[in-house]
Amino acid sequence: MKRGYLIDMDGVIYRGGEPIPGAAEFVKRLLRENIPFLFLTNNSQRTRRDVAMKLSRMGIPVGESHIFTCAMATARYLAKRSPHGTAFVIGEGGLLMALHRNGYAVVDKSPDYVVVGEGRTVNLEMLETAVQMILDGAKLIATNLDPNCPTRHGTRPGCGATVAYLETATGCRAMSMGKPSPIMMRAARKELGLATSETIMVGDTLETDILGGVQMGYRTILVLTGTSQRADLAKCAYGPDRVMESVAELADPALDLLQAVDAGDATEDSVHDMDAWCRATSSTT
Ligand SMILES: [Mg+2]
Repeated sequence: MKRGYLIDMDGVIYRGGEPIPGAAEFVKRLLRENIPFLFLTNNSQRTRRDVAMKLSRMGIPVGESHIFTCAMATARYLAKRSPHGTAFVIGEGGLLMALHRNGYAVVDKSPDYVVVGEGRTVNLEMLETAVQMILDGAKLIATNLDPNCPTRHGTRPGCGATVAYLETATGCRAMSMGKPSPIMMRAARKELGLATSETIMVGDTLETDILGGVQMGYRTILVLTGTSQRADLAKCAYGPDRVMESVAELADPALDLLQAVDAGDATEDSVHDMDAWCRATSSTT
């Protein structure tokens, strides 16, 4: 059976700028065994090339085609929904580049959308400008709703905090594109050319990685090297299909990567025979 992996990065592959033991071996194994995979990040600051370089410098040899960011998911969605539109952006290079690549112009007056990512450039003047634009009719888009980001020096406010500020000030709710949004989870699967039952999501955060996977019908693996711990499982109505101490378990040759979790329900993926489908559904209703 064909399988492929969607893999979160922070807390799974590295932590505090240091690779997690076994991560490089896991990625090399995926490459060697020709198993499709994509790194998923809710950080919109960097371009996919920047992210690939960061990983390569940690000894994790991947090209930019293995990176999928929430900035890419956002820009692709907007380009499809409203081609050649305009955006006022609170964010940095990765988000600006993704919007430009998808035919968007970045403007500071009368935008179609106010698009929010993370970064260190946000200030009160930008927030005031964004509030007025939203009240004047611009639609509010969040690249993700992560409340904060772990850094080497502690915790800094995340994109979700900036979005909450704008939502409170305007009374408008943002549409979010990053994990656990189906917009990003589905786009990543399609990028790999996988069916739902063939897709395995590996992450360290129940509220984003695992919830996003569960909602899409993907198989999910929680690793305990990041945010969520075993005790958190009891507080959640949903949960992963498998819990591992770290990705080092996925690097172990004794584990078959195609069988790491049971196969999903392939009948959900597509309906090949409409007549058979109609017969089956009419007999059960
Ligand atoms: Mg993470």
